[in-house]
Amino acid sequence: MAATADKCEICSDNFTNKVFIVEDPVRLIKRHICLKCSKSKTVCSICGLAAVPRTQRILEDGRILCELDGRGAILNEDEAKAIFEEVKREVQSMLNRFGSFPDANVSAHLVNRTDFIKEYFRKPAVDDPEKLLGLTRSVSEDRTNFQHHIYLLSGLLRPQFASVCAHEYTHTWLNERSKPSRTLNKDTVEGFCELIAWKYSSAKGHTNETGRILENTYTRGQIHAMIAAEQRFDFRRVIDWIESGEDSWIDKDHLEQILRLKDDPSDLTATPLWQQTTVRTEVPKTLRLRGISGGGSRRFALVNDRTLEVGESAKVRVGDSNVVVRCLSIEDAAVTLEIEPTKERRVLKITPKVSK
Ligand SMILES: [Zn+2]
Ligand SMILES: [Zn+2]
Repeated sequence: MAATADKCEICSDNFTNKVFIVEDPVRLIKRHICLKCSKSKTVCSICGLAAVPRTQRILEDGRILCELDGRGAILNEDEAKAIFEEVKREVQSMLNRFGSFPDANVSAHLVNRTDFIKEYFRKPAVDDPEKLLGLTRSVSEDRTNFQHHIYLLSGLLRPQFASVCAHEYTHTWLNERSKPSRTLNKDTVEGFCELIAWKYSSAKGHTNETGRILENTYTRGQIHAMIAAEQRFDFRRVIDWIESGEDSWIDKDHLEQILRLKDDPSDLTATPLWQQTTVRTEVPKTLRLRGISGGGSRRFALVNDRTLEVGESAKVRVGDSNVVVRCLSIEDAAVTLEIEPTKERRVLKITPKVSK
């Protein structure tokens, strides 16, 4: 579409005085717009530029899409499922040399923001769902027979939507392969899922999306460490480390640490990495320390259904109710909690699981 010099490229009104030049972050072009559009508070949830009543699209959750993004956004469940299946197959081809992978046991659901947030808060949660685009729930009674449900936010453009599909599918893969002997930091889990999304998007030439992945601070830098580790060694080494590395996260200044693998596969004190997203059907009726993960100054204690850092307060499920606790300290195999409302202090120790 050729830009006409005398009309606003958003509302098509004739320019009366000033012309404003704005960057369109989706189409990566400069657009000439009028004063009214430059100041508009009604903006597109994808590109952030003004949307005008004549051409905008209002989603059922209140988000607004401009004319151009309204045409490209994924809003149809069948289309969403088809994209998911296609991305799933591509990610499987990246991972198939490392053994079995989830396939028919994964269901994808397209949800609007309201339903996404509702689904997110059905389980204990640590992130701000407003900032999330996808969510994976893995359910398994016995660590075999997994069922995975992936919730994908509607109203995204195809490249971003596909990248979210790759990220969430990778969660199901990780969840199925998790074992008690392997602990991964939450940021590292997210970093690995982003690595797969980044590889997928790079292969497709989706430069907007690869840029977004690299700028996103959600993984606290683990995505950059992952990419650097893959480039310095190779993908196989990254997978080996994910499965049996010594450390729970990658230090970007010491990438060689990913070569250190554990040879003892039965470390009973570790937290299974799937605890972040797995639905637990059963929660202890008393406070119990179920695992310690992380290392150095960043340690996490898994108490019943919650992961806690030192200084953190949280609601923890105990049987059918909740208790608010504050984490005072984390030792090698113990945690000290302060329990509300009495401020009683309690030390919980790890009781090794008896495997059946
Ligand atoms: Zn837009
Ligand atoms: Zn994730």
